[in-house]
Order: sequence, then structure tokens, then C-alpha cells
Amino acid sequence: MNIEFSEDDLAFQNKVVNFIKANLPKGMEMWTKRNEWFQALKAQGGWDVPKWPVEFGGPGFTPTQRYIFDMEMARHATPPQIPFGVGMLAPILMNHGSKEQIDRFMPGIRDGSVNWCQGYSEPGAGSDLANLKTKAELSEDGTYYLVNGQKIWTTLAHIAHWMFCLTRTSSSGAKQEGITFLLIPMDDPGIETRPIITLGGSHSVNEVYLTDVKVPVTNRIGEEGKGWTYAKGLLVHERTGLAGIQHSVLALEKSKANARSVKTGDGSLMDLPSFKNKVGALEAELLALEFTELRTLSQVSAGEGPGPESSILKLKGTEIQQRISELNIEAAGIYAAPWGGKPIGPDFARSATSSYLGGRATTIYGGASEVQKDVIAKNVLDLG
Ligand SMILES: Cc1cc2nc3c(=O)[nH]c(=O)nc-3n(C[C@H](O)[C@H](O)[C@H](O)COP(=O)(O)OP(=O)(O)OC[C@H]3O[C@@H](n4cnc5c(N)ncnc54)[C@H](O)[C@@H]3O)c2cc1C
Repeated sequence: MNIEFSEDDLAFQNKVVNFIKANLPKGMEMWTKRNEWFQALKAQGGWDVPKWPVEFGGPGFTPTQRYIFDMEMARHATPPQIPFGVGMLAPILMNHGSKEQIDRFMPGIRDGSVNWCQGYSEPGAGSDLANLKTKAELSEDGTYYLVNGQKIWTTLAHIAHWMFCLTRTSSSGAKQEGITFLLIPMDDPGIETRPIITLGGSHSVNEVYLTDVKVPVTNRIGEEGKGWTYAKGLLVHERTGLAGIQHSVLALEKSKANARSVKTGDGSLMDLPSFKNKVGALEAELLALEFTELRTLSQVSAGEGPGPESSILKLKGTEIQQRISELNIEAAGIYAAPWGGKPIGPDFARSATSSYLGGRATTIYGGASEVQKDVIAKNVLDLG
């Protein structure tokens, strides 16, 4: 395994950092000048879609360049992209969509003018996703599907124009076999979206009810009954991305600064051995995880994986994110208690509790921790 960056890679890293310094909007402009930022990335030759292949307008990064690019973007806290279109649906369209579907949907995905949501989970079909029951029945003339059922935990469904959706077209054979991948417009009169307010007090997830929704067969990706295969291919990549290692490095630095601002006796909270030990342990685990990620990258560069190791990254990466949010709660002390009302105490205390509570979800979505442990036991440790 070679995890040293080459001269060329280091030159690329310099280029990325210089680009960020010259173009990244500052302060509140991060939100108002978001589009300009993505346009500037695009003008670099596809840096707005770093994971897309060259034939679809991507930059053709090597796996190492992609790692460096992601790392620098995270280190400099650049505006995040909503993942559903660019990161999730686009690769499925590229691999399994028809030319007509690619021409129709890719432009809106790339320029961000069309919002997508992911309609996979249902009550009773989360970890066991293949258990999904939302039914799609082909019309007698074979021109459309009539879709009935319920999706749940659908992130950003309330602002989405379209949903990519797993539906059941057959109940015979293995559960994974009768699943069909459909693209459904969210303004159909048969769709009702109801908000779910999560523990952190925010509205990002929803229930989506589908009643007699007519979906033209031209909105089906690939073959009927093959949706599971199309959706599954992306899961390992999704898990790798959820580890958020560089974001955690940045977040931990912020937590240390927060703790330094909290005075205790002659020093600060950061000087207390009990607190320092927790920070040190997290730094060591983050470094170990970074090496695991580099090891995975080394395999990908050699044309393998990412394989089941992506479950290690997801499991540990999300646990670390949660532990960092716990440090902030500890540093905020009593000021973490009255969250949501009139802010009191240091600035960082305002979001400490909502981030902590909202962050509980990271070990659930993208595959719950227990399920990742199962994958690691069976496929990495060979225990089953
Ligand atoms: C904030 C948030 C956003 C989400 N966004 C989306 C989205 O946009 N689109 C979408 O389709 N879904 C989304 N999800 C759903 C998410 O993928 C599911 O919540 C997740 O897969 C777990 O499924 P479940 O909630 O049904 O829990 P269950 O599968 O019912 O699990 C309940 C508990 O049992 C454990 N468990 C389950 N099976 C096993 C097993 N075999 N071995 C050991 N333990 C097990 C789980 O780990 C968990 O602790 C989101 C979830 C959250 C919380």
C-alpha cells in the first residue's frame, strides 16, 4: 500500500487550495453567492461534479485527486451540495438510464434547478429495505404504472420537484427481485407530503403518501424488477461519504477552541485532564480512521473496492461525529440547557444541543450502526 502523495498530487493540492482562497465566498455570502461558487467550480473543468466521469462533464480526477479535493473542500468548510441529484441519482442514470432520460434529467441535476429526494425507506422497510411494499401496477395498455403506498424519512421531500423511488412490481420470488426504480414528479395530485419534526427541532424529513399516482413507463429506469440492483450499487459509496472525516477534523478543532474559551480555575476547560483525555482519544481515532480511508483509497486506485470496509468508515466516522457534539455540550455546560429559546451564554452554546440531538440520526441513516457491525462481522472479520 502506498499512501504517500506524489509530486503531481501535491501540486494538485496546491491548485485546489489556491482556487478555494480566491473564490470561496466569505461569511454570510456563503449562502447568497452559492451559485457563483458552483459556477466557478464548473469553470475549472467539472469541479462542481468531482465524482462524475469525463463523458458526463466531470473532471476525470484520479481517486487520489478526488480524496485531496474532498479533503480541502471539507477543511475550508465550502458550501455543501445536496447529495440526492448529483451524488445519488446521477450515477444511476449514467449507468442504467436511457439516452432520453439522461438528456432530460441530467442538466437540471447539474445546475441544481431541479431538487430530488430519495424514496426508499418505508414503515417496515428500513434496514430490511427489500421488504418495501409501495405497489406499482402496470396499466393494461402498458403505458403507465399506478403507484400506491407510503414512504418515510424522506429527506427534503417538501422542497423536492422529483423523487427517485423504489416500488414493488412483483411479490413472487426473492424479495429483492420484484423491485422497480421509478422517477416520480412531486407535484402529482396523488402525492401528500407530511413533515416529521426530529429531535433537534428541525424539519428536514417527511412522510410521503402516494395514492393512485400515474407514472409513465418512460419514467422507469432500466428494466422492470431490476431496481434493487441499480440502487444497491450506490450504497457502499454512500457509506464511504457519510464518514465525514475531514469535517470531523475541522469540528474537533472548533470544539477545542470552544473549550479554551471556557474558564475553569486558573486555566480553561481544555486544561482539565478529564476533558483533554477525551479530545486526545478522539484525535487518535480520527487519525486511525483517516488511515483506514487512505487504505480504502489505495485499493480503489488499484482498481478494487470500496468493499465492505466502507462499513467501518461509516460506523466509526458517525460515532466520532456524535462524540464531538458531546464535547460541545460539555463545554457549553448549563448554557446548553435552554436551547431553542432566547440565546444565553457563549455563541457556540446556541447550536450545541440542536447539533447534538440532530446528530443522533447519523448512526441510523445510510444503514444503522448495528447493520454496519453485521456487515463487518460477516465480510471483513469473516465471522459468519
Ligand atoms: C434523519 C434521517 C434521514 C433519512 N433520510 C432518508 C431518505 O432521504 N430517504 C430514505 O429512503 N430513507 C431515509 N432515512 C431512513 C433510513 O435509511 C432508515 O431510518 C434506516 O435504514 C433504518 O431503518 P428504520 O428506521 O426502519 O429502523 P429499523 O430497520 O426498524 O431498525 C430499528 C433498530 O433495529 C436495528 N436492526 C435492524 N436490523 C438489524 C439486524 N439485522 N441486526 C441487528 N440490528 C438490527 C437497527 O440497527 C435499529 O437500531 C433517513 C433516516 C433518518 C433518521
